[in-house]
Amino acid sequence: MQLRFIPQTVFKPKSSQEQSLENLLEKIQKKSSRAERALVRKAYYLAEDAHKFQKRLSGEPYITHPLAVAHLLADLDMDHEAICAGLLHDVLEDTAITRDYLEKEFGPTITQIVDGVTKISVLKSKGSETAQANNIRKIILATVQDARVLIVKLADKLHNLRTLSFHTPEKVKRIAQEALEIYAPLAGRLGIYKIKAEMEDLCLYYLKPEEYQKIKAAIAEKKANRDERVNKIIEILQDKLREEKIKAKLEGRSKHFYSIYKKIYEQKKDLDEIYDLTGVRVLVDSVQDCYAVLGIVHTLWNPIPNRFKDYISVPKSNGYQSLHTTVVGPEGKFLEVQIRTFRMHQICEYGIAAHWAYKEKENNLKSLQEQFRLLQNIATVQEEGGDAHEFMEELKTNLSVEDEVYVFSPKGEIFSLPAGSTVLDFAFRIHTELGLKCAGAKVQDRLISIRTPLKSGDQVTILTSPHVQPSPNWLRFLKTPQARAKLRAYFRRNEPTEAKIEEKKVETKSTKTIESLPRKSKIKKACEPIVEFYGETNLPHRLARCCNPQPGDAIIGFITRQHHLSVHKKHCPALKALTLSSENISRLVSVHWRGENQEAVLLIEGEDRPQIYLDLVRTLAEAGANIIEAKAETSHDGKISDTFRIEFDSEAHLEGIIVALKQIPGVSAVKMLSPDA
Ligand code: MN
Repeated sequence: MQLRFIPQTVFKPKSSQEQSLENLLEKIQKKSSRAERALVRKAYYLAEDAHKFQKRLSGEPYITHPLAVAHLLADLDMDHEAICAGLLHDVLEDTAITRDYLEKEFGPTITQIVDGVTKISVLKSKGSETAQANNIRKIILATVQDARVLIVKLADKLHNLRTLSFHTPEKVKRIAQEALEIYAPLAGRLGIYKIKAEMEDLCLYYLKPEEYQKIKAAIAEKKANRDERVNKIIEILQDKLREEKIKAKLEGRSKHFYSIYKKIYEQKKDLDEIYDLTGVRVLVDSVQDCYAVLGIVHTLWNPIPNRFKDYISVPKSNGYQSLHTTVVGPEGKFLEVQIRTFRMHQICEYGIAAHWAYKEKENNLKSLQEQFRLLQNIATVQEEGGDAHEFMEELKTNLSVEDEVYVFSPKGEIFSLPAGSTVLDFAFRIHTELGLKCAGAKVQDRLISIRTPLKSGDQVTILTSPHVQPSPNWLRFLKTPQARAKLRAYFRRNEPTEAKIEEKKVETKSTKTIESLPRKSKIKKACEPIVEFYGETNLPHRLARCCNPQPGDAIIGFITRQHHLSVHKKHCPALKALTLSSENISRLVSVHWRGENQEAVLLIEGEDRPQIYLDLVRTLAEAGANIIEAKAETSHDGKISDTFRIEFDSEAHLEGIIVALKQIPGVSAVKMLSPDA
């Protein structure tokens, strides 16, 4: 058995005995024609013959390697051209076969893929870094033309990593390091998480064997307990789904070793903390079912605020789509739930390769070009006589950013931003003034709000308005440190001038309040101590002396018998005493500091129909409302009452959101509940 030391992998590695040409052909039987299978057979025999005098370090015949690569590609559901290229991937480099011969026998497409993965021969004197740089540059440029070049290369690298233990320890470390820094992130760029995860686990195994074993042992120890918990949850949820007649596949979810490693050693988290977090995945047939399941999950268990992510309405830049939510599951333990369609799941695991399987090459090419535009730029610039070391450093830096989005200005200039960056981040990136006056943006003729996250390929026209007032609220959703810094600088500039501060200091010297104020008050100063009540800021009010609320404190209003609005801290004991009588309770009103974040709880009532939950969530997302919490209830007579706790920018914004919700067919009423409920 040659595949010694193989860590627990995502792909179940099969021994070389099981991998034959015959079972390769069997794997692709369903989705290939007789002629295509004949070509695969021909590629195999040519490769076998060309490599016949070569052996792998393990002592096996060399053909076992290209055959294993072809099997990996078949497992990814790749087409026959990629599989032929996989079988032939080493013939140009290592044998007497020429490019012309390949082209004559297999045509230009397969030849181009093989050529793309073939290393450029470089004089030894030029150094290994130059060779490495040239090869990776070549692969990137070829990949922009045909993604299968990189996919074949990734399968090649993965099989090499699986069988690394026959090399010297130094070489093992070098190859694993390269895979971890370059190939695993490239797999991520293509969205092929299945390969990325296994590569990272193998690299961890070779580079940090001790840590790898520690994690492995710890996981094994907790496994039984965890499995039991997951099974119980799956049972509860499955029963409920059956009741609602939703066909779904449920599975437990485990993190791969490298992601656990990163959390423990980079984010300094406790293994218990990471691993106690139970994860369940629900796969369904349609988008409509996704939202229905979400509603059911939220009725079974209470959702945790701020942990709901709708990647179906707003997919990640590499195409990832799913609903994520975290709820308080049985025994009070947090439960992470991912909900997606089978099709989305396939794309989550296979990324761009999944598009190939579905013959969506057009689609594919576009998203590929978006993903690779920046890498291509780096490669092209460097081709014109750049330094190899510089190229490698720039490439690694670029790849080390887990997720990036690439967006275009109206003039077609490209900007890269961290994933999750909003319209406002982009506005600040172009110019500070543009950020400070940003009112929204136009993307492909659609109007979107300042807090909408951007997607790769978006062409963004920033809209400005002289009425825009920068708000400290913005800090809540700005993603980039640069934009946050620019906004903070603006608030500092607009603080009371030095002279005024001096004046105040004199006034209050005896009480020393200025000195004793905490530093964070710098930003708070920008929210004036004016309270707002349903958008009205001029109403007569006073800050209650009993608790002396300061901007930033949670506050509540009390209407006095003199019809004044008295503002208390939310938990003021004096107020509590005052509101013991039920008559006084009705005098409480919700108020907040102007410029501070505003929350509302909307209760939506109406007739149940397919997709209504989807329409609600989409409408909220499109209107720029940030959903913090969602709960869905459906009565037996088909009435829905769904509640959403949302964040909004202004009263006008909230009004717009409510109007949009009321227009959804089936919705009969949208009510505001007290946000303190
Ligand atoms: Mn190879």
